[in-house]
Amino acid sequence: MRLTLLSTLALATLGTPMFAEEVNIYSYRQPELIKPLTDAFTKETGIEVNVAYLQKGMIERLKAEGDRSPADMVLTVDISLLSGIVAGGFTAPVESELMNNNVPAQYRDPDGHWFGVTTRARIVYASKDRVAASDVTTYEDLADPKWKGRICTRSGTHAYNVALTSAVIHHHGEAGAKAWLEGIKANLARKPQGNDRAQVKAIWSGECDIAIGNTYYMGAMLADPEQKEWADSVNVLFPTFENGGTHVNISGVALVKSAPNRDNAIKMMEFLTSPMAQEIYAKANFEYPVAPGTSADPLVEGWGSFTADDVNLMTLAGNRPAALRITEEVDFDG
Ligand code: FE
Repeated sequence: MRLTLLSTLALATLGTPMFAEEVNIYSYRQPELIKPLTDAFTKETGIEVNVAYLQKGMIERLKAEGDRSPADMVLTVDISLLSGIVAGGFTAPVESELMNNNVPAQYRDPDGHWFGVTTRARIVYASKDRVAASDVTTYEDLADPKWKGRICTRSGTHAYNVALTSAVIHHHGEAGAKAWLEGIKANLARKPQGNDRAQVKAIWSGECDIAIGNTYYMGAMLADPEQKEWADSVNVLFPTFENGGTHVNISGVALVKSAPNRDNAIKMMEFLTSPMAQEIYAKANFEYPVAPGTSADPLVEGWGSFTADDVNLMTLAGNRPAALRITEEVDFDG
């Protein structure tokens, strides 16, 4: 183990001078996910890609490093994280016809500060045994008393649920969204806890009948010997808003304002948002590419098709403070 590590380090050190050009990425996504893409990019352009994988604290790190930050670009999931980095003043706008063509308007900042690469839908996992597919219709319906004691979810303050609540605010206003949260809370089988996959496990074990979760976890569970059983006990159902589509969030990229390798970063961003790269990246994580004419993995396509809610993600980011506040006001996790 140590030997392997040492030789890898030695190779990396020796390898550095071979590349005149490089790009540094701060990523909330695991390097394995983007390795095939960074390799392809280096092969095509000769630009070396360095990925610093962070589990948290990206904003704090950018802040601490200031203009001396080695970061050229960031790669992250969730509009709230992306927009937080933009709001912190850490990004610079990119004007790229290529990216504007590859990324539909609802999945990028009108001012070019961030661009989506893939989407994931926040959907309903429903027990195959106890829930008919036709029982799940809208997000609004999840607050109906017919689901009393049957719903499981992770914390209401987790970014994924805050974004969903932000979408409810967009469609129904703050008071409507608060009533919706109260309705869901009254229907919970247990206090919010665990991650999305833990909710599917709870359906499998009979604790609840439906759960709110992101689509790609289905793929992740099916690939895991222990979790496959949980996944096999549920259907993926795509609710919509009464006057809209299915709630989606994104993974995306942004250029760092102080990027030491600005041109290379823009090249990398253009590469990552290209239809071919979107598909490879989406397939690696069971997500949906956003470029027109692209498609997801056949396994993912097999869960069903849906129309994404057409709200611009900037609107969701803007609703975030209100969404968090009403979640706390109804003591959703309590
Ligand atoms: Fe996730």
